[in-house]
Amino acid sequence: MSSIPVVDQEACIGCEVCTQICPEVFRMEEVAGSGHGHDHKSVVYNPTGAPAKKIEEAMDNCPVACIYWS
Ligand code: SF4
Repeated sequence: MSSIPVVDQEACIGCEVCTQICPEVFRMEEVAGSGHGHDHKSVVYNPTGAPAKKIEEAMDNCPVACIYWS
């Protein structure tokens, strides 16, 4: 298993679904926003923190499908 999950932060809308499904892998971080202060985006802080199945569940439930394998 060499693939790791990646979040496309441009597309992430900060809904926190992935961090609720799979907090071992994803967490919310404050990133510089586009014009209005800061946005919250998901980041992969521990790519091997959960079984692939659980990570895939987070991917499947992301409303904008911006989590992918790399
Ligand atoms: S589920 Fe998708 S849109 Fe929601 S916080 Fe995670 S990566 Fe971002």
